[in-house]
Order: sequence, then C-alpha cells, then structure tokens
Amino acid sequence: MLAERVLTGDIRAAAQLMRDIDDDAQGATAHLKHLYPHTGHAHIIGLTGAPGAGKSTLMDGMVHHLRRQGKTVGVLAIDPTSPYSGGAILGDRVRLQRHADDGGVFIKSIATRGHVGGLSRSAFGIATVMDAMGKDVILVETVGAGQDEVDIIHLAHTTIVVITADMGDGIQAVKSGILETADIFALNKADMEGAEIALNEIKMMLSMQQARKSNWAPPVIKTLALRNQGVDELLRRAQDHWNFLKTDGLKDYQKHKMHTEFMIHFRRHLMEQSLSALEHGRKWRETMDSIARYDIDPCSAAEALVHALLKK
Ligand code: GDP
Repeated sequence: MLAERVLTGDIRAAAQLMRDIDDDAQGATAHLKHLYPHTGHAHIIGLTGAPGAGKSTLMDGMVHHLRRQGKTVGVLAIDPTSPYSGGAILGDRVRLQRHADDGGVFIKSIATRGHVGGLSRSAFGIATVMDAMGKDVILVETVGAGQDEVDIIHLAHTTIVVITADMGDGIQAVKSGILETADIFALNKADMEGAEIALNEIKMMLSMQQARKSNWAPPVIKTLALRNQGVDELLRRAQDHWNFLKTDGLKDYQKHKMHTEFMIHFRRHLMEQSLSALEHGRKWRETMDSIARYDIDPCSAAEALVHALLKK
C-alpha cells in the first residue's frame, strides 16, 4: 500500500502519492486518511511575498542552513497561475535544483489548474505526506495573492512575509492586512538603496499596530538572500516562534488549521454530494424548464432547491 510505503521512507511512493493528490486521482484520499495519525511533527514555515521579492533565493539559503543543522526538509512551491505570472515563477526555482540529489530534501511544485479550492486541497495533502515522511521542516512558498492562498496561509505554523525596499511594500503590507498574518518579516535585498528607511518604516508600523492576538511581537530581519546573509538569523527567529507556539499557542494553531482543512473538504463534499443527489432528477429538470420560461429567477430557484435538499 502506497501510504505504508511512505511511512517506511520510500521516496518514490511519496512522489507518486503527491502526484495522485494533485491530480485528484481515485484512492488518494484513502492513503491520506491512513497518514494523518502519523503527522503533526514537522515545523511548517510559510514564505509569502510578491513575485521577485526573493522568496526562492531565500528558501534555497534556508534549505542549505537547515541541512547543515542535520534537519530534513520538504519544500512545497505553490504557483497560483494568474494572467500575470503565467506560471513563469516556476522557472526561477531552478536554483533549488542543486538540492535535488540530496535525499534529505524533497521538493514539490504545484500550480493552479482547475477550480478554486483545488490548490489548497493539494497543498494541505502534500504537506501531510511530507510530514508523514518525517521531514523536520516543511517550507511552503506562495505569492499570497490568490483565492486559495487565503486558506494556504493557515497551513503554516510560522509565516514569513518577504518584503523589499523598492516596492513600497511597507505601505502595501498595511493596506492588504498582511501585518496580521506575518509572524516574521524578512526585509530582503538589504543591499538595495532605501533598505534602512524601509526597515524603520515597517518597524514603526508594527509598533503602532493595535493589540495583537498573541504575545508574539513579529521581528523584522534584514536579509541579503543573494549572498546568504541574514538567513541564519531568519531561521533562528522561526525556531523561536516555533518554541513560542509550543508553549503558548499550538492549540489555537491546530484548531485554525484543522478548521481550514475541514472546510476545504466540507465545501467540496457538500457541492459534489448535493449535485449528485439533485442533478438530472425530475425536480432539477422542472426547475431548469421554469428558469428558461422566466417563471422563476435563477436566484430563487437555487435557493429553493438547496433548501428542499437540506430538509430531506
Ligand atoms: P521570488 O519570485 O520571490 O521567488 O524571487 P527570486 O528569489 O526569484 O528573486 C528575484 C530576483 O531578485 C532574482 O533575480 C534574484 O537574484 C534577486 N535577489 C534575490 N535576493 C536578492 C538580494 O538579497 N539582493 C539583490 N540585489 N537581489 C536579490
């Protein structure tokens, strides 16, 4: 059985299962169910930020440091294919390939192909497999812009938001509410002009922030990913945050994460099972005819059908 083989450390089985999860192949869910009891050990670190901020470069440095500490690493790179990125981001991940021959590193990229919800279902599933493989740390990279990524944010224990001085990101971060999701800020491209100003700007914004939901004050770390500077400190802070969670908020995190994951599956089953119960039945056909004749509007018709289904 595929899941059993994953638990014994079979890398090819893990790769196969991840493909099946991403393809939504039959049977993948059964394997996942088998793996869940063996998870919950990995520290999941999310890296999010605009394209070009330096996430892949930083991640490459983080993998390098983690390996030197003797930790095994899973990397999950998520590409929400949009008209703007067009999947081009994947090309920039080439540098990560230098870890491809290292048995202690497992890299997986996924991209949006189908409907909203598919990407987050894949991401949670693949992270489950990496966790069950016994990876110590799982790095999850997202652009943080897509619908799905609102969910994916909840996958990470520790969220690192990568910003740069040139994008006016400090201001953007406040506008988009990203301050609330960040546990750590990486101000990357510290070699760029204006880095010091941006650093102070973001620190000031953080100090003005209203009461946070936890006792963790997000640090701002200057990094120069290209020269591997600041990466060790970034990892130290991520470890601090992990320790903090373990003493202070791991239960809250679990609740949030499990709820998100539950909702991903619940929405899907609700949709699929409702449709299969209703579609092509007599009531369904009558409704379609009524809508076509303008006897009833599509809004009220949908409302009435779901209402009738739930009452059953
Ligand atoms: P991502 O899209 O966020 O994953 O960004 P990448 O890691 O692909 O980096 C985008 C570009 O910024 C690449 O050309 C990198 O070489 C460059 N870059 C990354 N980190 C730094 C840095 O610390 N300083 C400078 N000057 N350039 C950097």
